[in-house]
Amino acid sequence: MALKNEGRGRNFGISFEFFPPKSEEMEGQLWDTVAKLQDWDPDFVSVTYGAGGTTKAPTLSAVTRFLSQTPLATASHLTCVGATKEETHQMIDTFRKVGVKHFVALRGDAPGGVGAPYQPHPGGYANAAELVAGLKSVGDFEISVSAYPEKHPESRDTAADIEMLKRKADNGADRALTQFFFDNDNFERYLERVRAAGISIPIVPGIMPIQNLTQLKRFAGACGAVIPAFLDERFAGFDDKPEDRAKVAAEVAAEQIEDLVRRGIGDFHLYTMNRAPLVSAVLDNLGYSRRASKSAGAAA
Ligand SMILES: Cc1cc2nc3c(=O)[nH]c(=O)nc-3n(C[C@H](O)[C@H](O)[C@H](O)COP(=O)(O)OP(=O)(O)OC[C@H]3O[C@@H](n4cnc5c(N)ncnc54)[C@H](O)[C@@H]3O)c2cc1C
Repeated sequence: MALKNEGRGRNFGISFEFFPPKSEEMEGQLWDTVAKLQDWDPDFVSVTYGAGGTTKAPTLSAVTRFLSQTPLATASHLTCVGATKEETHQMIDTFRKVGVKHFVALRGDAPGGVGAPYQPHPGGYANAAELVAGLKSVGDFEISVSAYPEKHPESRDTAADIEMLKRKADNGADRALTQFFFDNDNFERYLERVRAAGISIPIVPGIMPIQNLTQLKRFAGACGAVIPAFLDERFAGFDDKPEDRAKVAAEVAAEQIEDLVRRGIGDFHLYTMNRAPLVSAVLDNLGYSRRASKSAGAAA
C-alpha cells in the first residue's frame, strides 16, 4: 500500500471507541483488548453510554479504570435522553469527579429503541445541541458530538442534520465523530456541505472494521448507515473462512482510511467492538507506527 511505502510514520491521528462490558467475561475481553491496543497510542479513547442511560454504572466504572489504570486520554459518552437537566448535571459531576474532561455529548435514542418516536424529557435537554450548551455552562470540557454523513434515520433530510450539527458546533463542540460509512465519495460531498454551512470543526470519520457483514447489515439501517454492494462482492465466498474474512475486512478498512487520507482527512475514530486483532490488522496494513511521535505531515 502507498502509505506503507511512505515509511512507518504517522500521517493521521486515531481514536478508539469501546463499549462498557455487561458480564465478567466481557470485562476480561475489554481489558485484554485495551492492553493490546494501547500500544497504538491513540489520541483518545471513548466509552459508550447505554441506550436510555441504561449502562450508567458500567460506563462510569470502565471510564474510571481507563483514567486511573491506563495512560489513555479518555472521553465518556453521555446522553440526555430520559433525564431531567438536574439528573444530567449530577452525572456530569460524577464523571468530572473521576477525572473526565472530555465528553461525547449525545441526545440518545428513544426508550422504545432506535426508530421509536423521540420525546424529550419535559425537564431535560431536548437534543445534543442543548446538552453541549449545558456542559459548557458548567465546565470547560472538551466536547465531541455525532455527525451522520448518510443522514440520521429520524432526520427530515441532510440539511436538517447539518443544521443540528451547526448548532452543536456553535454551542461549543470541538469535533464531530461520524456514524460509520463506507462510501467516501458521499462523505466528501457531505463534508463540502458542512463546510459551506460555516461549520469549521473537524469531522472525524467513524471507521467500522467489519467483524461480521451479516450482523452489520442487521443494525446498519437503524443507525443511518448504508452497506454498499461492493462489500458483498469483497466478502463473497468467505462465509466459512474466518481467516480470509478477517484479511478482507482489514484490507477494506485500510483502503478506506488510505483513500480518505489522500482526500485530506487527518483523524479517524475506530469502532473497536472491544476486539483488538482486526483493528491492529487495519493499522498494520497502513504501516501505522506504534508509539511513534506523529509526523508534521498530518492533513487538516
Ligand atoms: C459517534 C457516535 C457515538 C454514539 N454513542 C452513543 C452512545 O454512547 N449511547 C447511545 O445511546 N447512543 C449513541 N449514539 C447514537 C445516538 O444516540 C443516536 O443516533 C440518537 O438517535 C441521536 O443522538 P445525537 O446526539 O446524534 O442527536 P442529535 O444530534 O440531537 O440529532 C441527530 C439528528 O437527528 C435529527 N433529529 C433529532 N431529533 C429529531 C426529532 N425529534 N425529529 C426529527 N429529527 C430529529 C436531527 O436532524 C439531527 O441532526 C452514537 C452515535 C454516534 C454517531
